[in-house]
Amino acid sequence: MSGNWKMYKTAAETTQFFEKFNPLVANSTHCEIVIAPTFVNIPAAVAATKGTRIGIGGQNLYWAKEGAFTGEISGPMLKAVGCGWVIIGHSERRQYFGETDATVLQRTLAALEAGLKPIVCVGEKLEQRESGKTAELLTSQFDGGIAGLTPEQFAKIVIAYEPVWAIGTGKTATPEIAADAHRVIRACAAAKFGADAASKVRILYGGSVKPDNIKVLMAQTEVDGVLVGGAALDATSFASIVNF
Ligand code: PEP
Repeated sequence: MSGNWKMYKTAAETTQFFEKFNPLVANSTHCEIVIAPTFVNIPAAVAATKGTRIGIGGQNLYWAKEGAFTGEISGPMLKAVGCGWVIIGHSERRQYFGETDATVLQRTLAALEAGLKPIVCVGEKLEQRESGKTAELLTSQFDGGIAGLTPEQFAKIVIAYEPVWAIGTGKTATPEIAADAHRVIRACAAAKFGADAASKVRILYGGSVKPDNIKVLMAQTEVDGVLVGGAALDATSFASIVNF
C-alpha cells in the first residue's frame, strides 16, 4: 500500500503523522507500506519510521547521478537519505512537468541503478477512456516507458494503474474497470517479458482510493495493492486502508 503526499505537509506535520500512524500499522505485516513525502520532508519521514516496516519514497527523480541540473534530485541522493522507493511518471508529472514515456524509462533505469524500487505510473485521461482508447494508451505507455527494461529490471518494478479522471476527483474506477485495465497491462507484460514475469509483477490501482472503497478494489485478484493520494494524508484514514 503506497501513499503519495504530493506537495502537502511540513516537516513537523510529517513527524506528527507518523506518531499517529506507526502504532496503527505496527501489526500490519500482510503488505508493504510506502509513503512518498516531498523531497524536503524525506529526512523527517525516514527518522520517524526508523525501526518500522514503513518504506519511504521520492515522488520523482532525475536520471543523471549528479551535475549541473538546477532543482533536480538524483537516485543516489534519494538512496543516501534513506529512500527505498520512488514514484515515476505520475500523471501530474506528465501533465504539468513534461514527463514523457521516454523520460519515464530514463528515470526508471536511473532508479534501479541507484537501488531504488520504482513505482511506475500509467493511466488514461477521460477523453481517451470515452473514445475507447484506454487499452491503446496503456499499451503505448507500457511500450514507451517500460518495455525498454531488461527482464531482470522488469522483475524489480511495481506498476501503478492510475486513470487520470479518477485522481483527486472522488471518482473511483469501478473494481471491474480497474481489473480490466490491469489485465491490459499484464497482457503487455506477458507479450514483452513472458507469462511468468507478467503474473508476478505487482500492479497497484490509484485514483480516489478511500477507506470505504478499499475492500471492493482489493477483492479483485488483479489488484495487488493501491497508490493513494488524498486519503494517505490522514493517519487514521491511510491506516484503515492498509488494514482493510
Ligand atoms: C495519486 O496522487 O496518485 C492519487 C491516486 O490521488 P488520489 O488518491 O487523491 O486520487
